[in-house]
Amino acid sequence: MPNIDKVSLAHLPTPLEFLPRLTEALGGPDIWIKRDDQTGLALGGNKTRKLEYLLGDALTSGADTIVTAGAIQSNHCRQTAAAAAKLGLDCHLVLGSEPPDTVTGNLLLDQLFGAKLHWAGRERRGEPLSELVSELKAQGRSPYLVPYGGSNPIGALGYVEAIKELKQQNGPEFSHILFASCSGGTHAGMLAGQAKYGLNSKILGIRIDKQDPMDGPYEQQLTKLTQQTTRLLTPEVTTDKVQLNNDYMAGGYAVLGQQEVEAIQMLARTEGILLDPVYSGRAFAGLVDLVQQGFFDSDKPVLFWHTGGSPALFAYHQQLSA
Ligand SMILES: *Cc1c(COP(=O)(O)O)cnc(C)c1O
Repeated sequence: MPNIDKVSLAHLPTPLEFLPRLTEALGGPDIWIKRDDQTGLALGGNKTRKLEYLLGDALTSGADTIVTAGAIQSNHCRQTAAAAAKLGLDCHLVLGSEPPDTVTGNLLLDQLFGAKLHWAGRERRGEPLSELVSELKAQGRSPYLVPYGGSNPIGALGYVEAIKELKQQNGPEFSHILFASCSGGTHAGMLAGQAKYGLNSKILGIRIDKQDPMDGPYEQQLTKLTQQTTRLLTPEVTTDKVQLNNDYMAGGYAVLGQQEVEAIQMLARTEGILLDPVYSGRAFAGLVDLVQQGFFDSDKPVLFWHTGGSPALFAYHQQLSA
């Protein structure tokens, strides 16, 4: 691994569990779950693993202020705000919304963690970040910019190491690993980790956001991020090609539809596990549909990598309450 002093933020390893009642309900392959909703920091989620490297890098570079961006119900912003608080750093969040009437879910938690909020209207991916960084510098601060979703090669290292953790848990050999893929750090890190640690499972991301990143088509950006991540590794590794399923983006980013509602209810009612409305609920709906289509070999177990997000459930109470 490269020379980045990571900070410890997560409770690791996260549990790897078999889901017997869900498996029975679906009648397909054995379904297992990797509980990165239980990373421990501030109600958990996949951003915590990335932040261990990103904020380690921030501390090394002498930063006193963390700047990042996301949607109004960003899990990434919530975990960043908590991590900054824990490390005694200021945190500025640029949120893609107008100031809302009701403060709930992740946004409520951002406030509890003392983050300073900036409202960016329709720009939910940090478009105004460099401006804010310049302003903070002019005020004599030392800001460190964490990109949208924590998805750069440094953040992705968290998921390179997550694959090592999975290998060490000695579970069964999974035919596929499914998860929500959105800003790409999780996906890129897993692919690099798969190559580095020799994991045989196929890494299959379920795409969440229809909108492409600012600098090009998502799949292309993901491939680029994967390559950049492998370049941080010694020896450098050659990854599998990116595999991305684009079939479950439904109404677009953060639009909760019937497929997500049913998926959330299904996992809650079979296993007592909470998904989220934007990411894991959508990815899990994809998993259920793929099982029902007979996409998987029924004698080979499949892993759903839970990426967290349940605090956002409360912001969708109207669509979710029966
Ligand atoms: C951010 C997020 C994802 C997507 O991870 P990326 O690394 O951005 O692709 C998935 N699930 C949840 C709950 C998230 O908050």
